[in-house]
Amino acid sequence: MKVNGSTQLLGILGNPLSHTASPAMHNSVCQQLKVNYIYVPIHITNDDLENSLTSLKRLNYKGFNVTIPYKESILPFLDKIDTKAKRLGAVNTVVNENDQWVGYNTDGQGFLEALEKESNFQVENTRVCIIGAGGSARAIADTLLEEKIESLVIINRTIEKARLLADTLKTNFTQRIEIKSITDPSLSMSLNDSHLIINATSLGMYPNQHTCPLNDFSWIKKTHFLYDLIYNPEETLFLNEAYKIGAPHLSGTGMLAGQGYLAFEYFTQTKAPYELFRAALEDFFS
Ligand code: NDP
Repeated sequence: MKVNGSTQLLGILGNPLSHTASPAMHNSVCQQLKVNYIYVPIHITNDDLENSLTSLKRLNYKGFNVTIPYKESILPFLDKIDTKAKRLGAVNTVVNENDQWVGYNTDGQGFLEALEKESNFQVENTRVCIIGAGGSARAIADTLLEEKIESLVIINRTIEKARLLADTLKTNFTQRIEIKSITDPSLSMSLNDSHLIINATSLGMYPNQHTCPLNDFSWIKKTHFLYDLIYNPEETLFLNEAYKIGAPHLSGTGMLAGQGYLAFEYFTQTKAPYELFRAALEDFFS
């Protein structure tokens, strides 16, 4: 990568950033496409958020991604927020548009992008179970309902959080949305009856890779599609159940590549092949 006087600045804003794969992914794509950008970690502390945004504008940053813990707290400091990000109350991509910080949320679309690029699964008219009711579950549920899935079951440890998410979604969408506790005895029936089952919890993620959101997989069939948002490790216990039976499945590396692919286009107005993001991540994690 040749950095010169015309190199434009991009980055990822968060804390901590020690494990982020985004700089490696974006810099690899910039290098391969020969576009003159550099993507760096922007490590800030919470009480610095407003000043940091002013400084990044003065330093002429073209844009940045946002990760834990600022996806929600950054909203009041942005000049504009696109409709979907506003609805979700969270942004993961901020772009400098005519000296204004404009916030977007590409998490749900990134999830879908990977599914479309890496499988033949068509979400329209499908029945979906999502395990988890946090920020990523919310973004994905919103996108899937927009894409006209038939129905959604939100499964969560804390039922109140599932109820809150379902109530919010019901104000925007008309499809059937149910909630279930992760310990509900009728869970297997809902899982068996669905086409796509998503793990949107941190259960199974390093260093707790021996954990799994579900204990019982007796419901699983070859026709189910299992999607885990976790990318470290790439093969979780949840996905291993799909692998054992020969059911299609996808890890969170796909979603990571998908949201990077969409953010890159926002930042550079250049469309890069999804496969470049995927390959850069494979390199990074190998
Ligand atoms: P949140 O903290 O917003 O939500 C966490 C969810 O996990 C909640 O539903 C929570 O349930 C559940 N959970 C956590 N611990 C347990 C437990 N011990 N038992 C049962 N449920 C539990 O996280 P996010 O939505 O931001 O992220 C969720 C996962 O998705 C993470 O693993 C993250 O790394 C991954 N992710 C991947 C991305 C990608 O690009 N591949 C992008 C974003 C996230 P409760 O409500 O009961 O607390």
